[in-house]
Amino acid sequence: MLVLKFGGTSVGKPERMKKIADLVLATPGQKVVVLSALSGTTNALVAIGDHLMAGSQNLAEKEIATLEKHYDSFIKGLYSSEAFLAIGQETVSRFFIFMRLLATGQFDVKSYRELLAQGELISTELFYQHLQEQKVNSRLLPALHFMSIDENEEPELEKIEQRLKPLLASLKNVDVIITQGYICRNHRNEIDNLKRGGSDYTASLIGAAIRAEEIQIWTDIDGMHNNDPRIVKKTFPISELTFDEASELAYFGAKILHPSTIVPAQKYNVPVRLKNTMDEKAEGTIISNKGIEGTFKAVAAKDNITVINIKSSRMLMAYGFLRRVFEVFEQHKTPIDMISTSEVAVSLTIDGIDNLDSIITELKKFGTIEVEKNQTIICVVGHNIGKQKGILEKVFHALASVPVRMVSCGGSNNNISIVIEPAFKERALISLNENLFGIR
Ligand code: ASP
Ligand code: MG
Repeated sequence: MLVLKFGGTSVGKPERMKKIADLVLATPGQKVVVLSALSGTTNALVAIGDHLMAGSQNLAEKEIATLEKHYDSFIKGLYSSEAFLAIGQETVSRFFIFMRLLATGQFDVKSYRELLAQGELISTELFYQHLQEQKVNSRLLPALHFMSIDENEEPELEKIEQRLKPLLASLKNVDVIITQGYICRNHRNEIDNLKRGGSDYTASLIGAAIRAEEIQIWTDIDGMHNNDPRIVKKTFPISELTFDEASELAYFGAKILHPSTIVPAQKYNVPVRLKNTMDEKAEGTIISNKGIEGTFKAVAAKDNITVINIKSSRMLMAYGFLRRVFEVFEQHKTPIDMISTSEVAVSLTIDGIDNLDSIITELKKFGTIEVEKNQTIICVVGHNIGKQKGILEKVFHALASVPVRMVSCGGSNNNISIVIEPAFKERALISLNENLFGIR
């Protein structure tokens, strides 16, 4: 069985939605199709939810009306027969009646999440009706019947697997099984989600749960690139990546994948293929457990990083010091990304700064604290590059004219991370492109 996920832009226009239907039908075998909301919808729902949270009913209603118009014209382009257009209209008006119901009731975080879920619920229903019109043997399988997260907002892969088994067994003779990306139930059984961009994660969780042959993520670019195409003129798609390389890249910069996507796929060794809906002939990127050792695969940059430096003479030859430092971050539910230490100081980076002030107050008990906000991590990725000689020399040669604030390597053999000032990012990425990939 294959799992195919299509993102917002792949379903964002009626022609595109029809095209992915053709694409799905041209793929042999039974498939689970995971869809995002139409492009722009989740952003619109966030805006509506924010207005409602702020008590601005009128602004929310305006946004709802604009969104409704969008769907009214969308279905006109999607269905060819009067009968199906009528079904589409019924669906759209049902959804918007419900959204207005949510909007007029007491609006809290729970209703907000329920509102956010409407994007995927409507896109999958419209797509299902399109397949019905094309007389495709398909079914809609509600993600809210099997996708769940625990109290730490972690997906419950085993439970998902247990629920999916009987559900899929009852759909043995169905060619195309459609489900929603992004949405799930939380430990209170309420409607929740896997965070923005979470449809990729849904696809990977399903793929892992059913031990799919392959998980295909269809987007609007031709795979992961060796460098950031927004900054460096000449980049190329990488044809093969290992799970580890892809995880590092998904987190550091490459916006193409939800950062957690690789984890479930890697656990059960299900290959993830990134493909381009706009150019289906393009090879894309295949992510698996196979890799070529010792070659540079990609560089990526992540902005808005905060560096925290803790200097303490108490660290000298002490044990347990780092544990106490890390506990502060644990208590504040703040992940640490990079770390580098000397005998009397430790530097680390964090991405989320919601709890920065209280973290610093706590850390001051240990020594002198310096904080630098708005820094950039440059990350060089390659399978087992850490085991090769001359690798660091090449990287530092490329960065000869860039002041380096912090370096971390050896944590994994697949990654060298360097913190720099954002002003040097462009220079660093271009120079690494020239020096590591020979592209000028
Ligand atoms: N629709 C959700 C979002 O825009 C999930 C996704 O597209 O992956 O974030
Ligand atoms: Mg996405």
